[in-house]
Amino acid sequence: MKTGKIENIIFDLGNTLCFYDFYYFYEGISRLEKKLNPAEFRRYIINKKLDIKLITGRLAHKDLFKKLKKKFNLKTGYSDFIFLYKDIFWENTPMKNFLEQVSNEKKYKLFLLSNTCSHHINYICKNFPYVNLIRNRILSFKVKMKKPDKRIFRFVIQKYKLNPEKTLLIDDLMENVKSARSLGIKGIHYSKHKSFLRQLNILIN
Ligand SMILES: [Mg+2]
Repeated sequence: MKTGKIENIIFDLGNTLCFYDFYYFYEGISRLEKKLNPAEFRRYIINKKLDIKLITGRLAHKDLFKKLKKKFNLKTGYSDFIFLYKDIFWENTPMKNFLEQVSNEKKYKLFLLSNTCSHHINYICKNFPYVNLIRNRILSFKVKMKKPDKRIFRFVIQKYKLNPEKTLLIDDLMENVKSARSLGIKGIHYSKHKSFLRQLNILIN
């Protein structure tokens, strides 16, 4: 069923525009801290929801560091800690090419909607400059909401006066796609790039 042309594309960031794996952070810290078990370190962060607090702007990186330093008796300094925390991303080249293409065509309004924190977005804009092609950015740590919460999708729709039917979300997490779809936004669950292009073709043609 087709209900009108796509005018707006909302891109997810992590594992859509670029890839990431927090494994590199946990492993990196464990390489510096002989007694640290990376799985235990990870579990603590997730159980205490420290990752969620960071991306919703309720925890500063300095405070995350202090908490972890105390709990695990870390010897690593703050700058090494932050360096490892940021260095977890790599380019998704086909998606980079796709973004450059749609940015050139100027057929769609482009948006970035990401669950992220200040250090990660700054690192990405510096190291993956193609992301800067998207000027409209809705970042969880700034708006203090995160996907898949419907409120963040409603916020985007209202702020930019978007017609949900003419808006497409591209996101690697099905729960985000489902949440957006429940508000009438079109969604593509991003995994393999070829399958993404196939689904996109069906939607826009
Ligand atoms: Mg993602």
